[in-house]
Amino acid sequence: MPFRPRYTGLIDKYRDRLPVRDDTRVISLGEGNTPLIRLNHVPGDIGCAIDLYVKYEGLNPTGSFKDRGMTMAVTKAVEEGSRAVICASTGNTSASAAAYAARAGIRAFVLIPEGKIALGKLAQAMMHGAVVLQIRGNFDAGMRLVKEVAAEAPVTIVNSINPFRLQGQKTAAFEIIEELECAPDYHCLPVGNAGNISAHWLGYREYYEHGIVNSRPVMVGYQASGAAPFLRGAMVDHPETVATAIRIGHPQSWDKAWTAQKESGGWFDECSDEEILAAQRLLAGREGIFCEPASATSVAGALRDARAGRIPAGSKVVCTLTGHGLKDPDIAIAQCGDRVTTVPAELEAVRGAILDRLE
Ligand SMILES: *Cc1c(COP(=O)(O)O)cnc(C)c1O
Repeated sequence: MPFRPRYTGLIDKYRDRLPVRDDTRVISLGEGNTPLIRLNHVPGDIGCAIDLYVKYEGLNPTGSFKDRGMTMAVTKAVEEGSRAVICASTGNTSASAAAYAARAGIRAFVLIPEGKIALGKLAQAMMHGAVVLQIRGNFDAGMRLVKEVAAEAPVTIVNSINPFRLQGQKTAAFEIIEELECAPDYHCLPVGNAGNISAHWLGYREYYEHGIVNSRPVMVGYQASGAAPFLRGAMVDHPETVATAIRIGHPQSWDKAWTAQKESGGWFDECSDEEILAAQRLLAGREGIFCEPASATSVAGALRDARAGRIPAGSKVVCTLTGHGLKDPDIAIAQCGDRVTTVPAELEAVRGAILDRLE
């Protein structure tokens, strides 16, 4: 057969490593299999001699890594006979839950913090037909309410406290190992609820324990300065950051993430909003890779730690870019609105504007 079989999502690909049966009805949108892109300009630009790759999770079906977990969570919810899913969300979980629920033909209820979710994510949840409940409170309040209501109503929670979410998300580590043909030396992620860093550690451990690779990466988690409970060593009651996807003060996977840090010999650190946005612009402008602000936290932190020597020169480093830049057009345009020049619709004006800039 000259053709390879059609890629049909991560459950089909990693079926023997995931809790599904042969007759399970899989709810998939072809998630996973995202590109691992080697950065050509950025490390050198700022004087770092590391081998830096980004795992571009923004290319999942709804534009974030949440789809890896959601295909598992919704598949299992349907298998168990559930007719509705619910989540609290800073945006991407709601977009993903809404899409996979539509695909499955079940209801989705999403609780989002009023005014603090990026426009693209809200559009997705609405288009996919979720019931969107905007609460006058932050993500942490939404999470508490979801747990309380799910104890009384026939709805399945699809936040990352749902154990199937992490099972799906661990497959990103499998893909990275398969593409590099080894484990990276360091894996850096933005950390909000801390499910994803915990899931990656599960995946890396699994391939190591099964003898598929002979090393595991050091796990490094970066948080926004205004929402950095891991760095402070205590929950934060009023998290604030431009990176709305990680505007979380009470991470649900607190213990699991500390385990990943300790077992891997890694650390947590913080990035300011300015550092996060600078890294977002650098990736877009110098590499052609558009990620949302939260995602750029991984690169901002990795570059700083590489420059400081905490990540040694020559290291193979993977940064997860958790979500697509188009999710948050407002922040993107606010940063570079001045790049648009208005000219008359006349050859002379257009030619002049071009020649000026070619000098
Ligand atoms: C959910 C999310 C995160 C945070 O992941 P956690 O598993 O909650 O730590 C980071 N970036 C983006 C874009 C996200 O959607």
